[in-house]
Amino acid sequence: MGSEELKHIHEAFDTNWISTVGPQINAFENSLSEYTGKAHTAVLSSGTSAIHLALQLLNVKAGDSVICQSFTFAGSAFPVTYQGAKPIFIDSETDTWNMDPDVLEDSILKLKAQSSKLKAIIPVHLYGMPYRINEIHDIALRYGIPVIEDAAEALGSKYHDQPCGSFGDFGVLSFNGNKIITTSGGGALLSDNKVYIERAKYLATQARDDSPHYEHSQIGYNYRMGNINAAIGLGQMEVLDERVQRKREIFKIYKSELASFEDIKFPEEPEGHFSNRWLTTIVTKSFEQRESIRLALEKENIEARPLWKPMHLQPVFKDADYFGGNVAEGLFNRGLCLPSGTAITEQDLGRIIEIIKKVFNRRGRKG
Ligand SMILES: *Cc1c(COP(=O)(O)O)cnc(C)c1O
Repeated sequence: MGSEELKHIHEAFDTNWISTVGPQINAFENSLSEYTGKAHTAVLSSGTSAIHLALQLLNVKAGDSVICQSFTFAGSAFPVTYQGAKPIFIDSETDTWNMDPDVLEDSILKLKAQSSKLKAIIPVHLYGMPYRINEIHDIALRYGIPVIEDAAEALGSKYHDQPCGSFGDFGVLSFNGNKIITTSGGGALLSDNKVYIERAKYLATQARDDSPHYEHSQIGYNYRMGNINAAIGLGQMEVLDERVQRKREIFKIYKSELASFEDIKFPEEPEGHFSNRWLTTIVTKSFEQRESIRLALEKENIEARPLWKPMHLQPVFKDADYFGGNVAEGLFNRGLCLPSGTAITEQDLGRIIEIIKKVFNRRGRKG
């Protein structure tokens, strides 16, 4: 937490707005709209619920297909199944590690030939790196498929100076505890379409019709964010830009210390891409090399996790359609997330870097 969250929480307590209505909710929504430039925002209980509501609003139902990025966290794709629809997974390209536009277009042509009902595309800015926005959105437009932009990891990232979360028909944010800012748990759905966001708020509060009693003409959800969480979010917005700066600094420190090892590759920002560097990630030469680094850190009680395991390799999605090669699989096998919390000290960074250097020096320095 920063220093301002408690102030906003106290304001909420003092005025007794503690449920899913209140001035902090409105202010947090306005703050997110202002930051991203998207006209309308609904704050919700999670990023996953935001994706679910976007699919509802696009009328995704049983028998439909939704194109997802395979290399992502499961929360990107799970909501497709809540609607009874089929997720179809697309491989990544090697620069941004996100949805490969060529594979996407190829898959659309093949799926259309089989008369699949393609209702949405959910590309992801993984680890905060903007995906190939021009290419992906051109394809979506050409084939008339709406985009749900999963910016859960990318608040503070930009593409040609435009904030991530503002490119899709819908933008999705997450304020889960591990994200760049947090409300302890929460998410947001953004759109320029006012009707969509009004409907999202209605569905998120159990679809209560306008009536003195409880009247329901549709199925709803309990997906709204609480006002106390929104108060935390308001405080977090004040430190967001500082966090992005610190995350980028952490990336720079790791890179300047480790890039001389030619077996370690850091993902670079293609022209126009500005990443919030939510996590510093590296790719090594082999699974064995990645494991030797991970285990050396673990021995010193330092947690470092492999990159996301692609959805098309997950047991739960073993029957899902997949288009592409083995880019995402290779990243999973050889990649590692390094400790990247903004509260990390220079001393701890130094310790981590020394442990990694030792792994390489043991094997003989190459670079
Ligand atoms: C965290 C995350 C989500 C889901 O957000 P929650 O708030 O945890 O439900 C979706 N997609 C990606 C890429 C994420 O990292």
